[in-house]
Amino acid sequence: MTTNRISLTELERGTPFEQRHIGPDQAAQAKMLAHIGFGSLDELTAAAVPDVIKSAEALDLPQGRTEAEVLDELRGLADRNRVLSSMIGLGYYGTFTPPVILRNVMENPAWYTAYTPYQPEISQGRLEALLNFQTMVADLTGLPTSGASLLDEGTAAAEAMALARRVGKVKKGVFLVDADCLPQTVAVIETRAEPTGVEVVVADLSDGIPAEIAERGVFGVLLQYPGASGAVRDPRALIEQAHELGAIVTVAADLLALTLLTSPGELGADIAVGTTQRFGVPMGFGGPHAGFMAVREKFARSLPGRLVGVSVDADGNKAYRLALQTREQHIRREKATSNICTAQVLLAVMAGMYAVYHGPEGLAGIARRTHRYATVLAEGLRAGGIEVLHGTYFDTLTARVPGRAAEIVAAAREAGVNLRHVDADLVGIACDETTGRAQLTAVLGAFGVQGDIEQLDAAAGDALPESLLRSDDYLAHPVFHQYRSETAMLRYLRTLADRDYALDRGMIPLGSCTMKLNATTEMEPVTWPQFGALHPFAPVDQAQGYLTLIQELEERLALVTGYDKVSLQPNAGSQGELAGLLAVRAYHRANGDEQRTVCLIPSSAHGTNAASAVMAGMKVVVVKTGEDGEVDADDLHAKIEQYRDELAVLMVTYPSTHGVFEEHITQICAAVHDAGGQVYVDGANLNALVGVAEPGKFGGDVSHLNLHKTFCIPHGGGGPGVGPVGVRAHLAPYLPNHPLQPTAGPETGVGPISAAPWGSAGILPISWAYVRLMGGEGLKRATQVAVLSANYIAKRLEPHYPVLYTGPGGLVAHECIIDVRPLTKATGVSIDDVAKRLIDYGFHAPTMSFPVAGTLMIEPTESEDLAELDRFCDAMIAIRAEIEKVGTGEWDKEDNPLRNAPHTAASLTGEWTHPYTREEAVHPAGVDAAAKYWPPVRRIDGAFGDRNLVCSCPPLEDYDG
Ligand SMILES: *Cc1c(COP(=O)(O)O)cnc(C)c1O
Repeated sequence: MTTNRISLTELERGTPFEQRHIGPDQAAQAKMLAHIGFGSLDELTAAAVPDVIKSAEALDLPQGRTEAEVLDELRGLADRNRVLSSMIGLGYYGTFTPPVILRNVMENPAWYTAYTPYQPEISQGRLEALLNFQTMVADLTGLPTSGASLLDEGTAAAEAMALARRVGKVKKGVFLVDADCLPQTVAVIETRAEPTGVEVVVADLSDGIPAEIAERGVFGVLLQYPGASGAVRDPRALIEQAHELGAIVTVAADLLALTLLTSPGELGADIAVGTTQRFGVPMGFGGPHAGFMAVREKFARSLPGRLVGVSVDADGNKAYRLALQTREQHIRREKATSNICTAQVLLAVMAGMYAVYHGPEGLAGIARRTHRYATVLAEGLRAGGIEVLHGTYFDTLTARVPGRAAEIVAAAREAGVNLRHVDADLVGIACDETTGRAQLTAVLGAFGVQGDIEQLDAAAGDALPESLLRSDDYLAHPVFHQYRSETAMLRYLRTLADRDYALDRGMIPLGSCTMKLNATTEMEPVTWPQFGALHPFAPVDQAQGYLTLIQELEERLALVTGYDKVSLQPNAGSQGELAGLLAVRAYHRANGDEQRTVCLIPSSAHGTNAASAVMAGMKVVVVKTGEDGEVDADDLHAKIEQYRDELAVLMVTYPSTHGVFEEHITQICAAVHDAGGQVYVDGANLNALVGVAEPGKFGGDVSHLNLHKTFCIPHGGGGPGVGPVGVRAHLAPYLPNHPLQPTAGPETGVGPISAAPWGSAGILPISWAYVRLMGGEGLKRATQVAVLSANYIAKRLEPHYPVLYTGPGGLVAHECIIDVRPLTKATGVSIDDVAKRLIDYGFHAPTMSFPVAGTLMIEPTESEDLAELDRFCDAMIAIRAEIEKVGTGEWDKEDNPLRNAPHTAASLTGEWTHPYTREEAVHPAGVDAAAKYWPPVRRIDGAFGDRNLVCSCPPLEDYDG
């Protein structure tokens, strides 16, 4: 019996996680390889990936660990974070996530694995949730049009600055920022302003706009309401004065305070921005949370980011979809006004649901309690002889303690509370939803004050200014009143989730977006309090677990990409682009090359590339794409020559946005370097490269990655994301840093790109866990299977649809583009018809019309097993046969299952007048009737919604019957 003995070490390894992450098993891989004519994964890689870019060595990462081991390691890291009561404030507050929302949204794959709602018919649940979010923000800010989330408060304020400059009457002058704005917001604004030539002036505006500033011209003003110090001032006179100067006024507001205070809209503001973090979203050491922006109606069409609107479907029923999609930055390219793409959908859904669950009275109750704690504390401090600076405040106090601030902050820390160390003489104390009597006693004690909470409560009056008490109704819509019991809430969440198609139903074969497995083990730590409850500005000695995790992830990503240094601060791919381009800019300037401002971008690039370049103060020059989908070498060389002295950088996606490993990449990089330019390799397609090739080694100077694509952070229905930027050593001094956390970046850095020092730190455990679970070999195998799956699909579909571009050996990289244009031309069946018909077959459509109009881009990823790949191919082939029926006239040109797709259950029960059967409509070949996904609405009329823009919950009467 000894011959079959398996060693303990081997048994302990259990089932390698790799086998859970990678869909096709050995036997399936062999079948797929045989189908495309290869004997092994290595043979395929050798043929598909150009030799010039291949890594010389295997990834120097340890072998993958088991799920149990990795969870243990993560628990160890979590235990090295110390969670104190946070009373630091500055835009980040303790909050109690209602468990019904925690478990059924944040921890529920039906919500977190969904894609951006570009296919609205299968996204009605999250679109409704986002409409709730928009309604909540619009109501509380008193401004009618709110978008469906921005990345954080700092970048929302920076976007407001850009908006003010675009739409305002004053075209010159400065952007004026009140001194009581959040310091990280001011810093993010300064990072964004400098390259675009905007001058930011920070001044104390409590007595109005100083004459010498007014004389220079002011195009925009930013106020914080309540201020960073806690002060609540009546800004009406200031807003009026700003308007007289022709300035656009932005108020950065706290939504909880707005349940009690007059709204910015009513005060006269043009734009309101802020964060919705304290509406039930854990602090997560800085993020992710949903930022917001709301504007006056006349600016609705200039809002950055996504906007959900109401429209109608083919049966005239109300339906939601993304409004004004032609504004999407993908399409705007160099005309883009903002680079935001991935936003914060999952967190926006949570914040909206928090308002749905609590309703206006519940929210106001939380606000009143928070305010009362602050007043009780102020009463106690004053009674103890401590000076409290402001007479009117909401939740935050500033205490003046000459020379004693450090000592008091330390004493509070000893007692388990973090306070804000403003300077040597000032201490900030912020109350929130989680504040209790214990914290008040601890804080009073730290100041050396005794106080009986009951007596202080009896003595304390309210401290909200009489003139600013809110008197209008808000959140009157039934959605904010109907789901007060947990049963009702649970069912509402379930109802919405059931309307959506996410990865928990089937594959989402989105080119460029890598919708791979988001493993539960990777997700679990995110909601552990030791990762969730840390304030981003907590002392670093309380965050040792985080810092270790961050450092290790940075190092491992540097290894994988071949760069020398990585910053995890950017909280989306777009932000990584901006950070990378700012590094390039700073580098050229440091070398005395201020004139190097031209950014070459191939015409096939993702829209964020050009938008980021514009934001980095660069001039975009578009390079042609050749017939074969590759960068047109002649045009590139001509442009390099033409702009030789001004060339700053070439931005190139690799593998290309066409899903092809271009063979000339190293020559291209060399030519750019020869002309003194830098090479930016957009790393969103890194899923084709990990373990196989390193952009930092084959010619790139800088790249961003998308951890929400390649490294398993879920898409969340359109966010969150993390967009780390990796650079070679010469650019490292110019990575992002942070004014409040010196360890977060180089002293010589370009300033903060995100409001928080490590961006969306709260979701970094996901990518850390993925790398740890897979190990070096596992990561490489994932890449190889991703390439195998894409080639398998390409091969299976090729006889039915032309595959548009291929690289070496007729192979594609990790995605393939199939061309529907010839079929459209011959039969009238459009790309839309195919995409919507896929819904009837139980699939999410691939990426439509990007990067080439009239095509579908398919990226299966390594996580889909062979059965699912085949189910998809079978559906596509069956649809091809349906198109044929339209072509031959067997099916009517207009009234056919393709044109009428998707079919709802309701559409079957009325009178059936179509020339095809109900079975053909909803149970076409291969669809399992018992497992069918039913879309809740039929095809949505986007244009109708754009003409009749409605971006908050429809009025009550629409809900009758
Ligand atoms: C997704 C993507 C981006 C932008 O990333 P976001 O996180 O959405 O900002 C940039 N470039 C390419 C090629 C992408 O696929």
